[in-house]
Amino acid sequence: MSTGSVRAVYMSAPGRPVEMRTVAAPRAREGGAILETVASEVCGTDVHLHHGRLSGVPYPIIPGHVSVGRVVESRGPLEDVEGRPIAEGALVTFYDVYGTCGACWHCLVARAATRCPKRRVYGITAPASDGLLGGWSERIEILPGVRLVPLPESLSAEDFLGGGCGLPTGFHAVERAGIAMGDVVVVQGSGPVGLNAAIFSQLAGALRVFVVGAPKARLDAARRLGVEDTLDITAMGDPAARASWVRDRTSGRGADVVIEASGNPAAVPEGLDMLRDGGRYVVVGQYTDSGDATLNPHRHINRRHATILGCWGYEFSHLHRSLAMMARHAGRFRWRELVSREYPLEKAGEALADMESLSVIKALIRP
Ligand SMILES: [Zn+2]
Ligand SMILES: [Zn+2]
Repeated sequence: MSTGSVRAVYMSAPGRPVEMRTVAAPRAREGGAILETVASEVCGTDVHLHHGRLSGVPYPIIPGHVSVGRVVESRGPLEDVEGRPIAEGALVTFYDVYGTCGACWHCLVARAATRCPKRRVYGITAPASDGLLGGWSERIEILPGVRLVPLPESLSAEDFLGGGCGLPTGFHAVERAGIAMGDVVVVQGSGPVGLNAAIFSQLAGALRVFVVGAPKARLDAARRLGVEDTLDITAMGDPAARASWVRDRTSGRGADVVIEASGNPAAVPEGLDMLRDGGRYVVVGQYTDSGDATLNPHRHINRRHATILGCWGYEFSHLHRSLAMMARHAGRFRWRELVSREYPLEKAGEALADMESLSVIKALIRP
């Protein structure tokens, strides 16, 4: 690589193969920085982006929203959220959001900053014309105001990216669920969000956690992460039988908390059938519009006295707290073992195909 140019993977339009381009090396803007990419994640969102299943995506984009890199250039002093300076060479990740205005109705009145219309996400809603704003690239441009987060010394890039975007997302879902000590939790879905929700449910005080999902490798990973039992949906195709499986393990009552992290709309009525009367249901897996589901409002919601909560994106606090929890508990929960495979930039298309076929749990792009 010459110092004047860098390579990056472009996703130019839905359904088109990703392509490598060589572009001018970015320079830091005033108050910003440049990272040399160490690794970036591949997640289910990238597969959805590739198929055009997310609305409002300004193609072409450079994918890779959660990444780790080393600071190679900065303009103006850089510091972390606690005011400690960040030196050049530091190993960092960053809160992958920019543009949130802090001045609109959503930001100020609703206090729901993840719904701010000006909010943009690296690797997802960041147009390539705005810069190298995705991790599938040899360099990442940190815009002024984007908050860098140094990795704790005990953690490697592989530890953090084994959690990836599922780490703060699963943490956020568990926060929304308001898990009480001694609760029984069912997680629907065994992808990275579901597995992280299973981890943080335990850390939040859940007595027993079950995971309903597929394929086998992901369910095996769930049990290694302390999940009491798993249900393989490919081996038990009848949703009513799956709800009975949960009731058989909860004195016939159902779980205190069910977290939906599957992405399948049909999981929602099924998950409500797994919930006890007065229980709490969190929907975090329906990140793209995969269609409708039919509920029975009497049976699923009203008579059940259910609390149903949505969970969109994550805020800085979720990244900050989930990373601190990872640093504390990485001996008990081996996040880095969730990384199934690493791919160079040239093999980004293969990484997308492997993620789509679920043959990997977490995949890394390593420029
Ligand atoms: Zn706003
Ligand atoms: Zn992701």
